[in-house]
Amino acid sequence: MSDAGAAETLFERIIAGEIPAEVVYQDDATFAFRDINPQARVHVLVVPRKRYRNVGELAEADPELLSRVLVTARKVAEIEEISESGYRVVFNTDADAGQTVFHVHAHVLGGEQLGLFGK
Ligand code: C5P
Repeated sequence: MSDAGAAETLFERIIAGEIPAEVVYQDDATFAFRDINPQARVHVLVVPRKRYRNVGELAEADPELLSRVLVTARKVAEIEEISESGYRVVFNTDADAGQTVFHVHAHVLGGEQLGLFGK
């Protein structure tokens, strides 16, 4: 279910231009901008304009929009010239994964050899 009735999130304020961000790509459904605290040489966040809490809720409610997020992730990789060398797409989901902004977002990471992940 969309969280549209809940309080505005940081990412809605970024999409609205109220908080500055370095925009990499945007279209009618998605918005991509550089992470303020990059964890790799390339670290871009892809956010659907419509808010869902996490990727599971988005997948269930609007699979077409999830697909748009993933296509934008690929476009970001092309724009950043990492689509050939490889990249990682991560959706942190809730507390144990460290999700801090409850407006679903894909982290697109690359531009260098990434380490194994887990703990
Ligand atoms: O997956 P998680 O919810 O932890 O990701 C939130 C991300 O949003 C963090 O990587 C953080 O650096 C980023 N962020 C940002 N700009 C802000 C606040 C947070 O890019 N103004």
